[in-house]
Amino acid sequence: MTATTTQSIKPDFQGQRKHFIFTDEHEQLRESIRRFVIKELQPHSEEWEEQTFPDWVFRRMGELGFLGLDKPEQYGGQGGDYYTSLVLAEEIVHAQCGGLAMGLAVHTDMAMPPILKFGTEEQKQEWVVPAIKGEKILCLGITEPDAGSDVAGIKTRAVADGDEYVINGSKTFITNGHRADAIVLVTKTDPDAGYDGFTLFLVPMDAPGVIREKKLEKLGMHASDTALLAFQDVRVPSTAVLGDVGKGFYQIMWELQGERLIGAAGCVAGAQAAFDRTLQYAQERSAFGRQIGHFQVIRHKFAEMATKIETARQMVYTTAWRFQNGQYPVREISMAKLYAARIAVEVADECIQIHGGNGYMKEYGIERVWRDMRLNRIGAGTDEIMLEVIGRSYGL
Ligand SMILES: Cc1cc2nc3c(=O)[nH]c(=O)nc-3n(C[C@H](O)[C@H](O)[C@H](O)COP(=O)(O)OP(=O)(O)OC[C@H]3O[C@@H](n4cnc5c(N)ncnc54)[C@H](O)[C@@H]3O)c2cc1C
Repeated sequence: MTATTTQSIKPDFQGQRKHFIFTDEHEQLRESIRRFVIKELQPHSEEWEEQTFPDWVFRRMGELGFLGLDKPEQYGGQGGDYYTSLVLAEEIVHAQCGGLAMGLAVHTDMAMPPILKFGTEEQKQEWVVPAIKGEKILCLGITEPDAGSDVAGIKTRAVADGDEYVINGSKTFITNGHRADAIVLVTKTDPDAGYDGFTLFLVPMDAPGVIREKKLEKLGMHASDTALLAFQDVRVPSTAVLGDVGKGFYQIMWELQGERLIGAAGCVAGAQAAFDRTLQYAQERSAFGRQIGHFQVIRHKFAEMATKIETARQMVYTTAWRFQNGQYPVREISMAKLYAARIAVEVADECIQIHGGNGYMKEYGIERVWRDMRLNRIGAGTDEIMLEVIGRSYGL
């Protein structure tokens, strides 16, 4: 066997391209987002943990074109495919600021898609165009104090009154709720119509009767703002209806699929980043006269984590491929969301363990990863709800 042949059959541990869905253009985009994130966002990570990230981040990212990567060019987007959005979700983790990633994702991948899919031309011009520029900030209101997983149990009512609707109710845990200019709001318009009794509205947050009640304090994701909102006799014109009256339940279930998939991508990238930092630590830290990474127990922890991260990544990419190609793979999105959220929390926990006492200290940032990650098993649909969706998809 020649030297060249021998070389060519060496395992390639350094291969960079992560999956065939990504082209050279995606990789260039990845590079430029990563450079921006590390230079302009990451240095503020600690500060934003204390006081939430500032609104200028939206404007700056709008300027750079990062808020509309996969949005149509006619509204100021870049017209890219769905994978460009995945690239953003993956690279934003280098800001080391989970709350920032969440606030941005709510804007780009949760509130904007239903406006683009169901909205009128006027609504797109009024809200999507400035949202892509980062001049207007969006939030999404599904959850209420008495109804989260059980979306059909919401009580916020919108009652027609001539050419207007009057909205009453409350929403809780609303990300960006304190800073947003508009909310995509889920309401009940006909309580007797079952799943056909829901309607979405696009409500300006400065409308009289919208009350930003309380900034909620959380276990993690401190850089994001989380609001309890009240709607007291909020009058909006019928042009504020988003999509079709009575179809809001189905529309918001559609929205949740994109939200879950992008969340899963963020979980994988977050887990990978924690893994990388911890690997470096395990190569630097010594105990009993050797690097801790050289204990078989620790080596196997890395092997377990890497295998789980890779499994989750492949699930996300394959499901994204189906999504990009016009399919609506609800079962697989639920699987990817469930699995990625679970392994991200497991990985963060193991990374704390490998850091020992330092892992428990704020200085090392690993405890923050765990606190931020923990939300993913709850937000956008809990583990239990994902299992329900998957189980029921088999007719059970
Ligand atoms: C930091 C943060 C940010 C958020 N951002 C937003 C936002 O921007 N917009 C928004 O609308 N919402 C937001 N949420 C809300 C989030 O989506 C809900 O918290 C989540 O869907 C769970 O609802 P819940 O909290 O009411 O829990 P519940 O529905 O009360 O669930 C409680 C427990 O019961 C379980 N359970 C419920 N139903 C079933 C069932 N059928 N079978 C088995 N187990 C079940 C759940 O899995 C869970 O373990 C956010 C939440 C947090 C914490």
